Amino acid sequence: MIKTEKLTKVFSTEDVETFALRGVDVHVRKGEFVAIMGPSGCGKSTFLNIVGLLDNPTGGTYSFNGTDVSNLKEEDRTQYRRGNIGFVFQSFNLIDKLNVYDNVELPLLYLKMKGAERKKRVNEVLNRMKIGHRAKHFPQQLSGGQQQRVAISRAVVANPVLILADEPTGNLDTKNGIEVMNLLSELNQEGATVLMVTHSARDAGFAHRTINLLDGQVIRENRN
Ligand code: ADP
Repeated sequence: MIKTEKLTKVFSTEDVETFALRGVDVHVRKGEFVAIMGPSGCGKSTFLNIVGLLDNPTGGTYSFNGTDVSNLKEEDRTQYRRGNIGFVFQSFNLIDKLNVYDNVELPLLYLKMKGAERKKRVNEVLNRMKIGHRAKHFPQQLSGGQQQRVAISRAVVANPVLILADEPTGNLDTKNGIEVMNLLSELNQEGATVLMVTHSARDAGFAHRTINLLDGQVIRENRN
């Protein structure tokens, strides 16, 4: 589903060039749950942003479901992303001015889903994530664990084939962190491919495979 070859990203500012990725080869098959690890600053977030079509690489190739998407224009990236990919971030990234329901509805509005179908789908997901009773509340009225459940609801409401998670438990305590990891694991078992960046060995333990971003080597493989 995801194949990067010699993926490179250089950030150029006026007089400084920062090499964020230096030739990354990663292959994730449909239905897998893969964790990416590596020291701070090695390019994990940059990698996830490129795989999530939030940014383009400066070199190498990235193919998604067999299509080369390395050099899409921004509007094409956005369209591709909305139809296929759900994002979960460490800092939840919810819109403060929108209540829980409206935050989760947003991806379906972008996809122009019809009213009744939209309402059914949003309520279905909120109930599935055990956050339906908070639909009218605003993000700042929720605990971190609840906010991340809303963020996961938003990520999956449009039924993406790929879920990308950037340190999804980084702002959560142990209990909520494990709950979030169990949710990601369930979503994977229900068919979504999951790619997660983490520095947590505990979280990586939920994945089928853990890859070191620096050399593309498998650090650990779970055969359960
Ligand atoms: P990680 O997630 O592994 O901590 P990042 O992907 O955030 O690493 O960053 C990799 C490198 O790229 C770092 O040196 C960082 O400072 C640099 N970097 C990331 N984003 C930008 C940017 N927009 N402009 C310039 N440098 C950046």
